[in-house]
Amino acid sequence: MPIEIAPGVFTLIEPGGHIWCNVAWVVFRDHTLVLDAGSLSEGQTYLPIIQATADKPIRFVLNTHHHGDHSYGNEFWTNHGATVMGNARIVGEFERDEPWRLNHFPVIEPAALWKAEVAATHIQPPRLLLSSPTVFDDGTQRVELLHLGAAHTAADTLAWLPKQRILVTGDVVVNGPYNVMWDAHVLSWIDVLAKAEALGARLIVPGHGAPGPGSIVGDQRAYFVALRDAVKAIVVRGGGAREVRASLGSIEESLLADPRIQHWVVPVKFPIPELLTLSGQLGCFYTELTGKAYAAADSLEYSQARALAGLCCGALKVLA
Ligand SMILES: [Zn+2]
Repeated sequence: MPIEIAPGVFTLIEPGGHIWCNVAWVVFRDHTLVLDAGSLSEGQTYLPIIQATADKPIRFVLNTHHHGDHSYGNEFWTNHGATVMGNARIVGEFERDEPWRLNHFPVIEPAALWKAEVAATHIQPPRLLLSSPTVFDDGTQRVELLHLGAAHTAADTLAWLPKQRILVTGDVVVNGPYNVMWDAHVLSWIDVLAKAEALGARLIVPGHGAPGPGSIVGDQRAYFVALRDAVKAIVVRGGGAREVRASLGSIEESLLADPRIQHWVVPVKFPIPELLTLSGQLGCFYTELTGKAYAAADSLEYSQARALAGLCCGALKVLA
């Protein structure tokens, strides 16, 4: 069910599984602006739900970034009359990663349904490329589409509603242990979070996880700073990737001991590719801080990264 978070502003929160993303929409006088396209099946599911909230054509759909859970529905929205938009740099992100990722996406159960969805999905980058800021304002609603620097990807767009002080962040902010850093610029991401925090949002609609108060932006930033500083402390002592990995347990312990940031910590024993875990996140900081590879060529995370290749975590880019 959609939640009306302010008059004419709605959100649908992903039902779980973290394959779909959160979607929001803003009803203007004569059209509806949808914030994130979602996957194909997400678009198909959400279109009638959005239409039921407002009898206005869906004229614009934003890709907050190029990841498939935010963009594989682009063609669907175009076929239903919308123009898909994204930051000008998003085209380069699509060119680097697609359609390889679509064709190598890990199978999601039920497999038959997922295979059919992949077969029906055609990569379509946004056709309307935005410089930042781009403002939609019809006197009733105002939405500012902002690129605050490289963060979760090189081409993130956040949607800021200054009247309601609502910030729709895409994956620049997530509410929980869902930070994916495959394509991230993690040091710059810290600065971007500071800029986002300075907007003074009352409500955050994150890319994944529940909506939360404005404070979650600063809390996620504190988590990233803790990751950076944990890696820095090892590097300053002359340690390398091996030492970072050996410190995983103690780093996790100190992160979990901080009530402000524990919510973002990926459990070390979580059964997902290491690329997506705390180790992978630390690796992204390690690589940006040192310029060195984090994953050894014979390591588990390296083979997982090869299997997921093109998901290109920052920590693995130097191995290419
Ligand atoms: Zn993403």
